[in-house]
Amino acid sequence: MTAFDAKNEAMRPALLEQVQLERLQALLARLKRNVRRYREQLGDAQVTSLDDFRRLPFTTPADLIDAFPYGMFALPLREVKRLHSTVGPDGRPLVLGYTTNDLRHWGRLAARQLVSAGVTPNDVVQICFESGVFEQSFGYVTAAEQIGAPVIPEDPVHIEYQLEVLRNYRTTVLITTPTNAIELVALLAARRIDPQSLHLRNVLLSRPIDARLKGEIGVGLFAGVRCTFGIPEIMDPGLCVECEYGHLHTNEDHFLVEIDNGELVVTTLCREAMPLLRYRTRLACSAERLECACGRTGIALRPGARLDGQLRINEMPVYEAQIAQVLAKTRAAGQPFRLDISERGVVIDIAVSREFFGDQMRILANLRTEIEAEFMARLAIQAKVRYVSALG
Ligand SMILES: [Zn+2]
Repeated sequence: MTAFDAKNEAMRPALLEQVQLERLQALLARLKRNVRRYREQLGDAQVTSLDDFRRLPFTTPADLIDAFPYGMFALPLREVKRLHSTVGPDGRPLVLGYTTNDLRHWGRLAARQLVSAGVTPNDVVQICFESGVFEQSFGYVTAAEQIGAPVIPEDPVHIEYQLEVLRNYRTTVLITTPTNAIELVALLAARRIDPQSLHLRNVLLSRPIDARLKGEIGVGLFAGVRCTFGIPEIMDPGLCVECEYGHLHTNEDHFLVEIDNGELVVTTLCREAMPLLRYRTRLACSAERLECACGRTGIALRPGARLDGQLRINEMPVYEAQIAQVLAKTRAAGQPFRLDISERGVVIDIAVSREFFGDQMRILANLRTEIEAEFMARLAIQAKVRYVSALG
């Protein structure tokens, strides 16, 4: 087994249960002491077994929104060393905090994924994330440092420049989004560049994709392809490790996962700044405890669809409510609209009535420019506006 932390990644179930229970008890004590919301909810609840734990209340994304910005923090702000944000349901921001220990754990957990994919100190790691998922790059930069491999963080992505860096620096490991990897495959094909002329050995993608696409990227870039899976509020990357057999093993020494009514629920066992108890991720998921030949014992997750209507545009999580909010700030406010979401952007069909806009072409053309600029400015997504007489 090639592993960054074999002792913890292959922990026997009986020992794991004991470790989880001890960490849960410590977590509960910290939550009751330091987070008012949990203190009120938990009262004098004690956990002496995992069965007790399953009777504790859930935490939801709405709780995080209510607590904005720092109400979920379990430590004074001066002890929080990094703040990131992500988007919650209905498009409102969530703040995520990390202490020095949280950041160290983040790097070490992400390093488990890199080592599982075969990354060594002899590799050159190039990280290409666009702004929408750029928090991930921090986890990978720290992970590469833990392993001792030189890392090239590249942001923002410009595909021509990216190819130049890949060639000039003889990158062997590329960490990026599926969308970017597919574009790179297309660019090589269009330029008739033999992927074997690059030095790539491994490509690590920011989210799971189907086996067919994974195969195409592997052939197109002449490299092994792994996918990772994480939840920004919990840890991304770092929640799971995809092994050579394609299983997403949870790092269970840090995260206690449950599947409740088909939804992934995660408890952070070691987080200091913002520990979460039974957090409902709003993601459909199944989990299987299997004997994997890779030697890892972490329960294997199979993530499914979002349960809260979250969309993905240009790799960025977006909610329909956010799109409506942007439209509401333009002169198209209140007009019926329909969305056609693609990997790269969104097409918005807006039903216009003669009474509302009049029939002047110039007014409609100006409005289109206004809307498209608003989307770029507020959500950093490409929008294309089309006018229709009815949404049909
Ligand atoms: Zn495995």
